[in-house]
Amino acid sequence: MHELPIIESILNIVLKHAQTNNARKVISVHMEIGKLSELEDDWLQRYFDYLSKGTIAEGAKLKIERTPIMMQCDACSVSYEVEMSQMGNLLCPACGTNRGKLLSGKNYYIKSMEVQ
Ligand SMILES: [Zn+2]
Repeated sequence: MHELPIIESILNIVLKHAQTNNARKVISVHMEIGKLSELEDDWLQRYFDYLSKGTIAEGAKLKIERTPIMMQCDACSVSYEVEMSQMGNLLCPACGTNRGKLLSGKNYYIKSMEVQ
């Protein structure tokens, strides 16, 4: 599972932040994950629960927001949003070219967290 390292690094950031703020417990973590991430929210939560066992982040609730998948056209450089289901047959809305590079969709970051 390639999502596990992502959750692991998120957990590390969460724990570091919590320590810096002298938190005793992490209540929730609000984060953004690109739509290209294949795992469902409840699986991300399950992995988080698994990895955070025994830490002050144990039991923290993940609030996940999905950020759009953005492509940039190879021909005219226009950037456009695509859905996961369209990834197989891309078409630039401006010029119709079917080649482009991924700008975002696999990124993730922590927006905020609630601690006690
Ligand atoms: Zn184009």
